[in-house]
Order: sequence, then C-alpha cells, then structure tokens
Amino acid sequence: MLRIVQVAFVCLVLGTAAVRAADGNPGAAVAHEVIIKKGDTLKRIAARSGVTVADLRKWNKARIGRGGALRAGRKLVIYETTTAPNAADSTPVGSSTPKSGATWDDAVLVRRGDSIGKIAAREGVSVADLQRWNKLSAKSPIHAGKYLVIQRSGPRLPPVSSGRPTAGHLAHGVFLGEGPGYRLRFPKNAYGTDTTIKVLRQCTKRVHDAFQGSAEVLVGDISRPGGGRFPPHEGHQSGRDVDVGYFLANNTQNATMHRVQADQVDYAKTWAYLKCTLQSGRVVRVFMDKKIQTAMAEWLTRKKQADPDQLRRLFGALGSDDALVRHAPKHDTHLHVRFACDAPPTVKTPKGKPPSDDDAAMLAPDGPSNGADACLEEDGDVPFGL
Ligand SMILES: [Zn+2]
Repeated sequence: MLRIVQVAFVCLVLGTAAVRAADGNPGAAVAHEVIIKKGDTLKRIAARSGVTVADLRKWNKARIGRGGALRAGRKLVIYETTTAPNAADSTPVGSSTPKSGATWDDAVLVRRGDSIGKIAAREGVSVADLQRWNKLSAKSPIHAGKYLVIQRSGPRLPPVSSGRPTAGHLAHGVFLGEGPGYRLRFPKNAYGTDTTIKVLRQCTKRVHDAFQGSAEVLVGDISRPGGGRFPPHEGHQSGRDVDVGYFLANNTQNATMHRVQADQVDYAKTWAYLKCTLQSGRVVRVFMDKKIQTAMAEWLTRKKQADPDQLRRLFGALGSDDALVRHAPKHDTHLHVRFACDAPPTVKTPKGKPPSDDDAAMLAPDGPSNGADACLEEDGDVPFGL
C-alpha cells in the first residue's frame, strides 16, 4: 500500500523576495511555494492549493517536466492575490477558484482509530471547520464507518475507487442524481466512479429511448458517498457495483426490489440494458439468479440475439466457473453489474522513451488523500468484450 504523505499546505511567503508578477500571473505580488510530495499529481496539488491545473502549468513552465512529470521534493510556485485576507494563512486561495466562494461538499469516511484532529490533518482542513461543517462539538464522538462532510473549494476532485469492490473505498464519488428512464431508490447510496455513473446513465437512457413509454427501471444501491463497508452487501464498497431491479413483463413498474420469477422478467429490455453496459467494455462481472440466467439464455437463443460462443462466455457451459454472469443469492430481486477500475490518467512521455520509475509513480491513480490502496479487481474479474 502506497502511503501518501499528506502534509499541510506548505506555505512560504517569500517576503522581500516576493516574486514579481511573471507573465501570465494575475498581477499578484506574493508567491507561495509548495513542495511536491511523493505521489503528488498536478491535480492533487491544484486542488490542495485552490487553483487550477492550468494555472499551475502557466506559473511553473520551467518547473514542470514535459507531460506534467513531477519530482518529489521540488517546489512549485503559486500566486496569491494581494487581496487575500491573510497572506500567511494556509487557507487555499486562488485567483482561479471558480466564482468567489464556490465550494462543493465532499464526504470522507471515518476510519477506525480516527479522531477529528487526525481527519482534519489528513484532509488539510482545520478542526474548527470540520466541526462546523458537521455540527460537532469538541466532545462529539465520531464513529468509524460514518462520514464527515468537508467543504472543498476549487475544482471538484475526480472520483477515486480504491481497494476491491468487497473491501474498498470511494473518494469524491459522483452522485447519480435523477435522469430519464430510471428512478433512484436511495439517493444517499448512489455514488460511483465516473465510468459507473456514465455507463449507468447511458444505458438506462438507451432503454428509455428504445422502448417508448417504458416503466422506469429501479436503481438500487451503488455505493455510499465514501464507499466502504455497506451491509448487507458484500460488494458495493468502491463505487463500481450497480443494482437495478429487473425490467418487468407487461411494462409493470418495479417499485421495490422484490423477488421475481423468471417469467416475470422483460428480457428484451433487460438485455438491452445489459448489452449496453457490456458494450462499454468496462464490465467485469454480472450477478443474476440462476433461474433468470437460464431463461435469459433461452430468450437470447430464440430471438437470435447472441451466438453460442457469446452465450458460453456470458453464462458458461454447465458447471463451468469462467463466465461473466454468476449466480449469487438474492439476485432474483435485481441485476447486478460490476464495472472495472477506471484507468489511471495517461501522461505522455517523450517519444519512444518508456516512463521512468518516477514517471510511473505519477501515472498511478490519484488515491484518496489519506493514502489508500490502488483500485483492484476481484480475482477473475476482467473486462468483458461483447
Ligand atoms: Zn447485487
């Protein structure tokens, strides 16, 4: 596990040596230097400092390597407007913060052994702010597994899935919200990765568009805002599992996640949804009740929707354990799709040259700020191509 050292915003006011307005900086007279930490990315530094990546690049043309490669221990300069209330304050300030005072709520998971002080230090915020945002007093207990709200300023941080779906977390998860073709059962449990939310929206819309007047599909749990353990689910911990109720025959609106018999399922719609998710190339596992699998395989064969090879890769030969779709208890109430880890951001390297070890470290996905593990697949979970 890569432990990313989270250091409070290192702020050196250069005083008399204040860097004069360089080309492109917004006329600021005071510059801060931030030290690049191991595991830092431009995005992370920008977010921590309340500025944009574009500004960081603009201000540090000579300091940032080609393709944005960073070297731990080196410094980047950040310009602060002279109108800031306190230049020596570690409050993120930024000429580029969208609108004045624009903030967004982030949710962070309370881990075992955490205290308000620890979380504040880890997240680079003050204890007082953390208490205020969460209406906590100095004596309020906090509980592992619950969330605290952190009001962030600056650009919204990208979602990060870490660990496995059955033992993982989600930082800065994307909220599904409302959309065409589905109703959301529990908004508080509808947070996921970029891919998860994007494909889910696309595919529920695809069914909605293809079947005019179709009853809305019921979207059940994805992950809690910061992921983590989510009983009674085994998975759903890292923003990559999505439960949707089966589309029901006779255009029946599925209002709750109730058990359905194989002959109550609308296979045309259910397949349209599942096929759409598979075409994303980002699905690594599907859970369905065995009876419904069998009926769906029969339907696909009868309607010539899948060839024998696809059927085998989807549902497996009798008794085999290498197919995409698996039986799991309680999956006669819903169809469960698990998405792959999002690919780490790519960084261009000079032509032909393989990335150095340092560059490779920069390529790693930006983990949650308390230094969580990489995003991992469960054993045997690999992206499925249709
Ligand atoms: Zn499920």
